[in-house]
Amino acid sequence: MIEIELLPVMSDNYVCLLFDPATGTSGVVDPGVAEPVLARLAELGRGLDWILLTHHHADHTGGLPALRRETGARAVCSRGDVGRIAGIESGTDVAVGEGDVVTFGALAVHVLETPGHTRGHVSFWISGEETLFCGDTLFALGCGRLFEGTAEEMWRSLSKLAALPPSTRVYCGHEYTASNARFALAVDPDNPDLRRRAEEIRGLRERGEPTIPTTIELELRTNPFLRVGDPAIRRRLGMEEASEVEVFAELRARKDRF
Ligand SMILES: [Zn+2]
Repeated sequence: MIEIELLPVMSDNYVCLLFDPATGTSGVVDPGVAEPVLARLAELGRGLDWILLTHHHADHTGGLPALRRETGARAVCSRGDVGRIAGIESGTDVAVGEGDVVTFGALAVHVLETPGHTRGHVSFWISGEETLFCGDTLFALGCGRLFEGTAEEMWRSLSKLAALPPSTRVYCGHEYTASNARFALAVDPDNPDLRRRAEEIRGLRERGEPTIPTTIELELRTNPFLRVGDPAIRRRLGMEEASEVEVFAELRARKDRF
């Protein structure tokens, strides 16, 4: 079973350290900075084989050059992001797209294209471990801002993630859950699962603990961006007859102003 460790860096980013004990393969997802990753790897007595990058933003990729220099690890990034990420080397690194499978030790990492936040955004799904790394696409109780994509693209990407097995563990790129919970409660105030979860989140954050990972099942019950078909949310928005994309776009626009 893969070992996953969350490393909080900068103000609210998460870097994930991965380790496959069966093969000794070591990896990292979205290292915005290198130093804390190198320090933790040294403590663990580990090298680094793979650097998985969900999208080009510097707070997810800034550690790549130093990590490569210090460890010799290879990067995996979206084909669309080659040329947009400082330090990607086309001869060494692996550029991927929808349906590609990267071998991580004994594990298969499936690539899902999830544009919307950025054009080239990808998510990594380790099917055998029911584990997903989705960067800034799906957040606990939220979703990424639409910097480069349309609401329709983001809705399609979220729908793809929502269709993964419900027990899938979801690791996202930021600790935004408390502020996402405030917005979720504003548009879905009578959802008992959401109210319970918001209480749990408050407790976790008061103790300085992460709210990640979440699961697909929990998001389907509580994340308004995955609940655009919910009659109560639609009634509150006055959008009973609207399409799913229209409801999603309205929620995203309201969250931007929230
Ligand atoms: Zn981003």
